[in-house]
Amino acid sequence: MDNVQSACHEHIFNTYGRLPVTFVRGEGCTLWDDDGREYLDFLAGIAVCNLGHSHPELARVMFEQANTLVHVSNLFYTLPQIDLAAQLTRLSFADKVFFSNSGAEANEAAIKLARKYSNDRFGPGRFHVITMKDSFHGRTLATLSATAQDKVHKGFEPLVEGFTYVDFNSISAVEAAITDKTCAVMVEPIQGEGGINMPREGYLRELKELCRSRHLLLIFDEVQVGMGRTGTLFAHEQEGVTPDIMTLAKALANGLPIGAMLATGEVAEAFVLGTHGTTFGGTPLVTSVALRTVQLLSEPSFLERVRRVGAYFVEKLKELQARHEVVRDIRGRGLLIGMDLTVPGKDIVDKCLQRGFIINCTHETVLRFVPPLIVGEKEIDRFVKVLDEILKEEAA
Ligand SMILES: *Cc1c(COP(=O)(O)O)cnc(C)c1O
Repeated sequence: MDNVQSACHEHIFNTYGRLPVTFVRGEGCTLWDDDGREYLDFLAGIAVCNLGHSHPELARVMFEQANTLVHVSNLFYTLPQIDLAAQLTRLSFADKVFFSNSGAEANEAAIKLARKYSNDRFGPGRFHVITMKDSFHGRTLATLSATAQDKVHKGFEPLVEGFTYVDFNSISAVEAAITDKTCAVMVEPIQGEGGINMPREGYLRELKELCRSRHLLLIFDEVQVGMGRTGTLFAHEQEGVTPDIMTLAKALANGLPIGAMLATGEVAEAFVLGTHGTTFGGTPLVTSVALRTVQLLSEPSFLERVRRVGAYFVEKLKELQARHEVVRDIRGRGLLIGMDLTVPGKDIVDKCLQRGFIINCTHETVLRFVPPLIVGEKEIDRFVKVLDEILKEEAA
């Protein structure tokens, strides 16, 4: 362990299993460590830097806004926040936006809004939210309670009351879990941390139908899968269904901290004056960068390219699957791709890093590939060649 890494262990809470590398610079899909060594990034800061590192135009917007106005609080009107909200509602089902600083906070807001809407409309006592096994919604108390994974709960009990967990992809399980206390169903259109789990054909549409008939709100957590990641600006667009509430974060400002909760006008009305707030939400600095990010990510030709490059990547990975028994499944959409293994993936992540490629493993056995969306076929070819060699070694 070098000096930087031991200083980190000495001074920072040991909540992360960090890989032994210190990054000092990035550009596009490339990162450099403190020895000047180059790495190809297939993680993008966990699906955050969708336009790549040190994007020149975003850097310019950031610099200009930093020299103009950074923060004044939500006690006043500021322009970039309004422009961003107008842009997001124009591009989505939603009428209103609430800005937060992270995905967990966006989901907190969504859970609060669902409870408040239900309380206003149907009276008290109707506050339960149904969520899916292997979901991930964040690390605050309410969002870790919404997250149906034991490892996230352990030691933090008692959980926040009112969450019921059912199997992902089962409508009958949701139906059986609905009681007179249920107010909403919350789901990731594609499960990210839970192992890149795809919705079966029709699942999200059926869920919407069920929610409508039982007067429940449908919440889509698009924190990971939104912002162009799957080849459309929002993942649910490819399912022919819209939610009542949607949350965004990760890639929304290409690396600056931001979250957003979007809702239909009718639902948004439940948050009246003084019911919710945050000091930093939607600062001019962050929202000006987010606005430019959204403009770039929502270009039809950009999204078309994500779909094309994503399909190319999957095709190459399927060739590996055919050659390596350890590869159980390849799944994903756009540039959100998982390689499910019959063994834990940690060793392969380490070996990739040693050879200058950054990937990550989620849910023990699923290698997760979420490169910047600007990645090219040449970079994919370089990576797949190395992964092929590593998988060969694993088999030997
Ligand atoms: C990352 C993530 C979150 C939490 O976002 P933070 O910004 O880390 O709080 C919530 N939901 C999903 C689907 C995520 O991938």
